[in-house]
Amino acid sequence: MLHHGLTQQALWYAQKCNSCGFCRAVCPLLEEIGPESAAPRGRVFLAGEILAGRMAVTPAVAARLGQCLVCRHCLAICPTGVRVDLVMMAARALIKETVGAERLKVIILKSLASRWQLISAIAALVAPLQGIVGRRVEGGQALRLNWRGMAGRTLPVLKAQPFLKNYRSHNRAHTPKAGRRVAFFAGCFVNFVDPEIGYATVRVLEENGIEVVIPQGQTCCGTPMLAAGQLDLALPAIRKNIDALLAVEAEAIVTSCASCGTSLKEWWGDVLAVEDDAVYLARAREVARKTCDISEFLAERVELKPPPGLKTPLKATYHDPCHLAQGRNIRSQPRALLSKIPGLNLVEMAGADDCCGCGGFFSYDEYPLTRRVNEKKIKNIAATGAEVVLSGCPGCNLQIRDGMNRFQIPGEVWHTVQILDRAYRGV
Ligand code: SF4
Ligand code: SF4
Repeated sequence: MLHHGLTQQALWYAQKCNSCGFCRAVCPLLEEIGPESAAPRGRVFLAGEILAGRMAVTPAVAARLGQCLVCRHCLAICPTGVRVDLVMMAARALIKETVGAERLKVIILKSLASRWQLISAIAALVAPLQGIVGRRVEGGQALRLNWRGMAGRTLPVLKAQPFLKNYRSHNRAHTPKAGRRVAFFAGCFVNFVDPEIGYATVRVLEENGIEVVIPQGQTCCGTPMLAAGQLDLALPAIRKNIDALLAVEAEAIVTSCASCGTSLKEWWGDVLAVEDDAVYLARAREVARKTCDISEFLAERVELKPPPGLKTPLKATYHDPCHLAQGRNIRSQPRALLSKIPGLNLVEMAGADDCCGCGGFFSYDEYPLTRRVNEKKIKNIAATGAEVVLSGCPGCNLQIRDGMNRFQIPGEVWHTVQILDRAYRGV
């Protein structure tokens, strides 16, 4: 379905572009693809033309507008505030209306948006069978088939027991301080693929006397649907999440996925504003006000209990996820936390905030292209000699894990909160 409000807003942003070209210097795809139409300003121009009806949605235009990581490097630098992320959502919504969308992708997006229970049931059934499609490798499984150019790609192992299934009780704090309670928003990746990040988040918060509530009605944050321009799938999920998150009393809503956090903090309000849904817009703004990345919450709102330290000293490097660094400027907080871990030697890599190339579903649509972006990141990681790569985004971690396996770079890839958790537990 086409969304008039979003279209109008995208057209307004397209008119704001003054063609200064600052965005050309930061787009991770421009260098890989080449022509001006692959620059952010080129994409904004194409989007404006098709949305205004001055240009037809040809396969070439659709393909070019599909090639965007929604990494937000361009909007973070844009002097006139062009929201390329929203322009891409509007353009892709029109493309979907005009040329349709891949059936399998729609099924996956629909399931993530509204059928978490079904995915949980399927996960329990298929988890033991995953060896058929992939062989076990460090941090996941490597795809056996050359499907969409993804042969050998490290994919996550679906867990038989999703994160949310392990939490029935709301009150889990061992040493709650009066009035300190947060709600935790897990997101698809933590729930289905890497629940360890969720457990580490809960343990670290509890270690610091914060009660953690895990609202049970939560579902996908909507990022994959929004990035694909499928607002009709995203909006019900967004409203359901808002109801679940505001049903519990909590001083903050904590996320440990950079993209989920950006959705809660910005995109929910953005799309509800253009939908003219005043009731849910007000509620989305309340969610945005309360939402904190776990690194932000621990660094800024908690007097962190000193962790005893790692059992074995480790050399680590930190990758800035685009959805934490670009637009939200969460850079110093994770580093401040890491500096408090005895036994951790943090070395900065070159281009720490360069994109890892993941882009969520973009790495499914255009895996060979995302690999080329990823290669530079992996070279910079390897040059540090770090034993562990840290980041605040499960999606980045997966893309980095894939690159490290491909280039046979030894080492672990963990979420920031996982190493903090290890430092508390002395492992
Ligand atoms: S930086 Fe902003 S205004 Fe300048 S060309 Fe890029 S999108 Fe347009
Ligand atoms: S969001 Fe990222 S990939 Fe997309 S145009 Fe901007 S800088 Fe390039």
